[in-house]
Amino acid sequence: MARIFVSDVHLDASAPDASEQFFEFLRAECAGAEALYILGDLFEVWVGDDDPDPEKARVVRALRNLTETGVAAFVIHGNRDFLLGRQFCDQAGVRLLQDPVVIELDGERVLVTHGDALCTDDHAYQELRSSVRTAEWQKRFLSLPFDVRDRFANRARKGSKAHNARTAPNIQDVNAAAVETAYRTARVRRMIHGHTHRPGIHNTMVDDEPAQRIVLGAWYEEGSYLYYENGIYDLRTLPRHASLSSR
Ligand code: MN
Repeated sequence: MARIFVSDVHLDASAPDASEQFFEFLRAECAGAEALYILGDLFEVWVGDDDPDPEKARVVRALRNLTETGVAAFVIHGNRDFLLGRQFCDQAGVRLLQDPVVIELDGERVLVTHGDALCTDDHAYQELRSSVRTAEWQKRFLSLPFDVRDRFANRARKGSKAHNARTAPNIQDVNAAAVETAYRTARVRRMIHGHTHRPGIHNTMVDDEPAQRIVLGAWYEEGSYLYYENGIYDLRTLPRHASLSSR
């Protein structure tokens, strides 16, 4: 049975076409699959499970509809939705996995991760990451009123856009040494991640063994997912039809 991997959907009320496409993807591509793995940044922003945004509630319902049919769904935190919590998981029927995690696909151990931790050349980002991913920071942040958190997130997004615009593209990609370390530490020869928005399949050698890194694409312009079945990894794109949003 198929396992499906997706990341960086960046769902947001301001991009209804992408949302409709994602709902259609859940209904069509994921129907009958054994499992769906969401490798981070499902949402453009998530500042707490108490978000009253009706668009977010639609996503929760769509995931719930899928998981109720028996498809197992797993989620990993991305850098934009690392505050997805228990309430979200319970309502959507998804299970949160730690990042990184090793899963087994027909006997093969495969590392899955959002991918931001591999971008070690971006020192400013890694510094920010190490502070906001602590339990203390999150506890403090989540104790703020929702609208304060929402405003903070909007400022952070603007800051992140400005940072990315002045940071060289290679700095925003994964670091080769960090990738090699990840293969060795997890004792795997295949990894799947997103975050960099550079979909592709990278074959390399690690300690004289072939290794493969599969990078999922973002959903800003089209859909992107990895379809796995019977040992075959198929990285696919889904063209977007603007008409989807007119329904
Ligand atoms: Mn990301």
